Amino acid sequence: MKALLKLKPEKGLWLQDVPLPTIQDDEVLIKIKTIALCGTDLHIYRWDGWAQKHIETPLIIGHEFMGEIAAIGKRVTHLSVGERVSGEGHITCGHCRNCREGQQHLCPNTIGIGIQRNGAFAEYLALPARNVIPIPPALSDDVATILDPLGNAVHTALKFDLVGEDVLITGAGPIGLMATAIAKQIGAKNIVVTDLNDYRLKLAKDFGATKTINIQDLSLTQILSALGKSFDFTVGLEMSGHIFAYQLMLESLSYGAHLALLGIPEQELSLDFNKIIFKGLTLKGIYGRKMFETWDKMIHLLESGLKISHVITHHFKAKAFEQAFAKIGSGEAGKIILSW
Ligand code: NAD
Ligand code: ZN
Repeated sequence: MKALLKLKPEKGLWLQDVPLPTIQDDEVLIKIKTIALCGTDLHIYRWDGWAQKHIETPLIIGHEFMGEIAAIGKRVTHLSVGERVSGEGHITCGHCRNCREGQQHLCPNTIGIGIQRNGAFAEYLALPARNVIPIPPALSDDVATILDPLGNAVHTALKFDLVGEDVLITGAGPIGLMATAIAKQIGAKNIVVTDLNDYRLKLAKDFGATKTINIQDLSLTQILSALGKSFDFTVGLEMSGHIFAYQLMLESLSYGAHLALLGIPEQELSLDFNKIIFKGLTLKGIYGRKMFETWDKMIHLLESGLKISHVITHHFKAKAFEQAFAKIGSGEAGKIILSW
């Protein structure tokens, strides 16, 4: 089969023939139809500091996908060949305290597909059956391909009650954009989105942002004055991983506000803890998606009218992966989908 590999510890990816994966008795083989690119894939492509620390080559990359079940292991009874599926890319141990207590998303022994074991950017993927998510007919192939990042947005946005609240979202990447749509759908009062990319802020408006602010070249004081006194930010969703966004959150959130942190900072941050203490803020780190509550909730949100398909801005054939990575690297894109 064909697969996109990180073959060598240097910049780039290699499209090559590799052996078909074999499946264990409790796994299924999925014939991949489409995959979506994620920031993690870009880190691996560029071979930056994060990738050098976390990736061992050779590795098939990719963890956002949809496809069809091609074969099932001997012990799999609840799935059948031909079913349209996506799946959770975090494979948990099943025996640690968190796994046993129904908190699999907090398993310290998690193995990520496309990171610690071969991923989905291939014609076939082997995945434990318990990680497989059947796709209801109402969901398009495109939307089914981006359930993984939608799950990040849903997990973050549902952490705190947004109904009737003023919400500040820092970062209008695909996840920030989908979080904007979710906040709008579930009844947030005002949604303000910041970024330094006008292309993405325009998309944030389309997704229902009340106001967008391009923070490029603005000081914290200038942003606070652009926000004015008309908002009472009781909830913050941090979706950029940038120090400046954290500082803005601590300055602009109201006393007693809640802050959900999804964005991943590239280095250690130095923050004014006095702001957290004296404002009585609640901070919650968010990792991945809840297994499998978030999957159920996001599928229900989609079935009940949540529209996120316009976060997908580009489609490429797998062999044009270099063009796709150039596009995602330019910032002039939402989600990018590749097909075999
Ligand atoms: P992305 O990189 O496409 O989007 C981040 C956006 O933040 C970009 O549009 C960028 O222009 C913007 N930005 C940069 N600095 C900013 C600032 N100071 N203020 C406001 N915006 C700023 O990423 P994404 O795929 O949308 O993911 C969002 C974040 O979530 C990333 O940091 C990603 O690494 C992280 N992430 C975390 C998890 C998790 O499990 N915790 C999972 C997936 C992604
Ligand atoms: Zn575990």
